[in-house]
Amino acid sequence: MVLKLEDIRLSFDGFCVLDNLSLHVKAGEFVCLLGPSGCGKTSTLRVCAGLESPLSGRVMLGDKIVTDGTKVLPPEKRHIGFLFQDFALFPHLNIFQNVAFGLKGYSKPETERRVLEVLKQVRMDKYAHALPHTLSGGQQQRVALARALAPKPGIMLLDEPFSGLDSGLRADIRDETLHVLKSTNVAAVMVTHDPEEAMFMADRIVLMKGGSIIQDGAPHELYTNPIDHFAASFFGEINIIKGVIKESTAQTILGSVPVSGFNEGEIVDVLIRPENVIVRPRNDVDQHFHTTKIEAARYLGRDSLLHLCVEDETGACTHLHARIDSQLKPIVDQNIVATMDPARAFVFR
Ligand code: ATP
Repeated sequence: MVLKLEDIRLSFDGFCVLDNLSLHVKAGEFVCLLGPSGCGKTSTLRVCAGLESPLSGRVMLGDKIVTDGTKVLPPEKRHIGFLFQDFALFPHLNIFQNVAFGLKGYSKPETERRVLEVLKQVRMDKYAHALPHTLSGGQQQRVALARALAPKPGIMLLDEPFSGLDSGLRADIRDETLHVLKSTNVAAVMVTHDPEEAMFMADRIVLMKGGSIIQDGAPHELYTNPIDHFAASFFGEINIIKGVIKESTAQTILGSVPVSGFNEGEIVDVLIRPENVIVRPRNDVDQHFHTTKIEAARYLGRDSLLHLCVEDETGACTHLHARIDSQLKPIVDQNIVATMDPARAFVFR
């Protein structure tokens, strides 16, 4: 294990920010801390870095205890690499000098070899003599990554490192950062509030809320098997419809979902992502399906987002969203049948 946080309690002015938080990161693993603003992601990273002193709990880097309650080894003694949004390179030093800056205790030839090696990894070796202001934002970010990696840190800590870049560049830099970190096999913990970014980059997503970890798993586990309403809703829009438990199924206006562990007659929430709502034209033989109308259709390129009104027995409308292939050319006001893929529905109390 490269990094272990055990039962970390952190508070500011009596307000609990991290509540007995434990987290283990393995060698080579890329872990994303994901969650809404203020849930404690950056604080967790700062505890890892030695920038915060918790009330209690321990941090271990390898087999060394670096934080033991309020006893904290300072950041510069932790052998950690940092990449933050505000990654400021030293403006008066050229790229070579910027990257060499963190290499303490290296001889001159060793420094030269290592700086050029790491600049090559981020494809910036041709710019060794350039000054930072002559580079684009993306190039500067690559240099910042090289600077962080140059001393061969045991672990990299990244705090929203791409949020200052425009969207096209961000995609490229994400890809490259991931490639470089994976090829050097350095473990990383990255903070983001962007679920797509977390899914793209992480081997493991740690979903946080209110200073605690809600769910921890591979991206597909969090997406396909969320633990509660919050986890299900965090990865994009989701429909919530009512269900009644009858004979081990949750019965809803979109059909039934097999369940276990609920009581007969219990009212539950059934959550279904728009892409798992299935629509088709209505035929004469479809009388037993709820009357459903397309109220609006928004073209999104590959998909269209449909606003549906599904009528219950009393004529009351349940508004839902469905995402379908835009080639299917939905017609507003058309009567359709809406069902769902029960294997992709989530049932919660
Ligand atoms: P964001 O996505 O907005 O950066 P976050 O999940 O990273 O949020 P933190 O920055 O860890 O959240 O903050 C967690 C809580 O701790 C917030 O309520 C914040 O206001 C509070 N907090 C953080 N740092 C301090 C501090 N130095 N003094 C007082 N309160 C703080």
